[in-house]
Amino acid sequence: MLSSLIFSVLLAAMQPAPAILLPAQPVGEPIDCNGAVFKAQIFNDEVECREISRSKLKIGDQTVTLRLLHDDEEDADLPPGYAEAAFEAVTRSFEIAAKERKLNFHNVSILPVEAYGQRREARMSGVTYWRGKAECVIALEVVTASRIAPEDNLLMFKFIVAHEAFHCVQSWNWSHQMALESSAWWREGSADLIGMLAYPGFTAQSKVNQGFAEIADAKSVLQMDYGNVVFFHWLWSQSPQKVFDLIAAMPRDQAYDSMASQEAALHAFLPKDAPAKYAAAYRGARIFASAN
Ligand SMILES: [Zn+2]
Repeated sequence: MLSSLIFSVLLAAMQPAPAILLPAQPVGEPIDCNGAVFKAQIFNDEVECREISRSKLKIGDQTVTLRLLHDDEEDADLPPGYAEAAFEAVTRSFEIAAKERKLNFHNVSILPVEAYGQRREARMSGVTYWRGKAECVIALEVVTASRIAPEDNLLMFKFIVAHEAFHCVQSWNWSHQMALESSAWWREGSADLIGMLAYPGFTAQSKVNQGFAEIADAKSVLQMDYGNVVFFHWLWSQSPQKVFDLIAAMPRDQAYDSMASQEAALHAFLPKDAPAKYAAAYRGARIFASAN
């Protein structure tokens, strides 16, 4: 699933100068969603795929295609208005990232899937299937909660899609770093940050509070995943560049897929006074488990 082209964005990123130096990248047409490549990517041979709609999205000098797909084998449709909301959320997520750094983007497909499990009420979640510098597929389970106001359901949905869309950005720009299992701490934390920046509503805020509560229990950043939205928000508030620099600086070799390697890379990346500053900003919150 994860094998693909190495793509380094570091050189381009060091030159804030614009697009003139870098020709527009034609990313091509979306792939056949009934083809073997697509089926392998989503681990589903049974898919009976149909394209519902598509639109072009221009991010800087890059143009990508967003598609809404439907699997005729699944009983899964988005509620009215949710397709537009998904496109909006992907767009916002990409724009927040692209505003701060020259990044690579590619096509995205949105695929509603059935909500499995015991609870078919109030289930909203997303999974991103990616292959390095190639089309990104966001599978979404969407069952709105009747006890929550429609606008809050919709806001939660947009937050989830914006989060997943940043996983796509991660995959196009830092696929090797992202491929390590030990990367969850920054993968999820930075994706929640972008979701929160895209939709700073109550859902995002509750995520922050949740992360905050975990931090209060003295977990280090390396022991959390989604809760790290707090850490990444702190980093972003110093400079958005630091968030992208941190991701780029993380281990990218499968031989070093361990939390010890993640911690060593984080130590090397952060200034020495970062743990103390972070602790001061967030009531003793910890970046590292040990105090060095
Ligand atoms: Zn995620």
